[in-house]
Parts: sequence; structure tokens; C-alpha cells
Amino acid sequence: MIPMEAKILFLGTGGDIAVTSKQARASGGIIIQVDDCQFHIDPGPGALVQAARHGINVRDHTAIFVSHSHLGHCNDVNALIAAMTLNGIDKHGVLVASESFLKSGFLTEFHRNCLEKILPAKPDKKIAIENTEIRSLAAEHTDPDTVGFKLFTPKFVLSYSSDTAYKKELVDQYSKSDILILNHTHPFDTKRPKTLSSEDIIKIINKAKPKLTVLTHFGNKLLNTNPIYEAREIQKQTGAQVIAAEDGMTIDPISYSADMKQKTLNLYSKKQKD
Ligand SMILES: [Zn+2]
Repeated sequence: MIPMEAKILFLGTGGDIAVTSKQARASGGIIIQVDDCQFHIDPGPGALVQAARHGINVRDHTAIFVSHSHLGHCNDVNALIAAMTLNGIDKHGVLVASESFLKSGFLTEFHRNCLEKILPAKPDKKIAIENTEIRSLAAEHTDPDTVGFKLFTPKFVLSYSSDTAYKKELVDQYSKSDILILNHTHPFDTKRPKTLSSEDIIKIINKAKPKLTVLTHFGNKLLNTNPIYEAREIQKQTGAQVIAAEDGMTIDPISYSADMKQKTLNLYSKKQKD
């Protein structure tokens, strides 16, 4: 089997405390591998355990991203840095984190010094790590410093909303994404402030038009109604491709990238109608 050139792996898909406290869904965050880089977004409780379980060597991490200071998104940061750098013996790696997280005191002085670099993430700020450009995205959440991330990798563009409310002004920043990962907390006909419901997700997809939307970070109510059912209904109402993530699920992002689609179309347009 030819190994994937790039990979997105969900080490957890749990959202609210009712789900993560029982680990009804894991909360290890998201791994993105592209070229020689390995990124870890929002390592919540169990990130290190889930990484080992799914064959991810955290020693190979290039960067860790923390979107905000809620535990479900940052709990394992110190443990991860210790593992990644062998307690600082192999000092390396970048931490890109919201200001709320960096000011919270959660990251110890010791682990701070194990890293090569710490970059505060503010909306619209752009940074580069190896060949990937990263833009921090604005969000509207109970932690007011919450950011999402947009990764412009050499092979695909991925946006991650993190925890946020739906706001018209926020949707533009997700446009021109091959893959859009949305933190989906509530099903249809339920709503809690500062999070995304199924209705909100429909509005975002209709405007941002990603090639693929992946839903994750499910709350308790959503797990009870079934994320797959919600994703199917959202797909039906938008006509777009929508997947509900599962713990340990892997996606090949290159098959959704605009460049690759173009190449595939050229190759197969005569054979295939759809
Ligand atoms: Zn949160």
C-alpha cells in the first residue's frame, strides 16, 4: 500500500464536559501530517494516550496548536511537550497558542523552556512553520481570546473553527478551504450561546463552500441524537460533502484539494459523469 502523502487523524471527537468526563468520545485533538511536518491541534485530556494508541510518535511533532484555555483543548500540553522533547533534552518544536492559554499559568516554566519557540495566536495574525503558512482565525466563545486556525499547506488548505458561535462576519475567513473542520456542539432545534448548532453549520457551509466539511467536538445532546444522522441531514440541506468524525478516523486531505481535483478531472472526465 502506498502511504498517504498527507493525513488528518482525529484523536478525539468529544465536546462538552458530559462527554469528555466519561470519555464517551475521546478528547486527544487532531493530528495533521503533511510533508515532513506533524501538527497537533488542541490536545485535550488523553492526547498522549490516544496518540500512542493510534501510532503517532509525538517525538516527531513539529508544532502544537492551542485554540483556547478550556481544558478539553489544552489539558495535555505539558505532558505532550515533555514527551516530544524528552523533558527538554531534545529542545524543539513550536507552540502556537491563544493569549488566554499563555497567560493562564497552565504551561509550566519548565515546559516552556523545552520548546524552541512560543507564538501567541491572535485573530488575523500570520505565521509560517516550515512550508505551511498559518493564519489565526477570529472566534466568538466564552473564552474571549479563542482563535481558530487556517493552515495553508503546500498540498491543501484546512480551516479549523475551534469553539465559536455563528456570526456572519466570521464566515468569510473559512472560504477557499479544501477542508473545514467545525466544532459541532448542538443538534437541530437546540441552541446554546457561543457554540455551533446544526442550523449554524448549514449557514456556514452555504457561504464558505469548502470541498469537505468534517464535524467534530460533539456535545452530549448531539451524541444522543447521533452525529451521523445530523451530518447526513446537513449534507442533504446543503448539497455539500459532510462527514461526522469518529475517534481514530483518518482522512486523506489531498483527495479533497482543489489542485488534485483538477488533475483527477482531467484524467477521468471522459470516463465519469459525476
Ligand atoms: Zn471551549
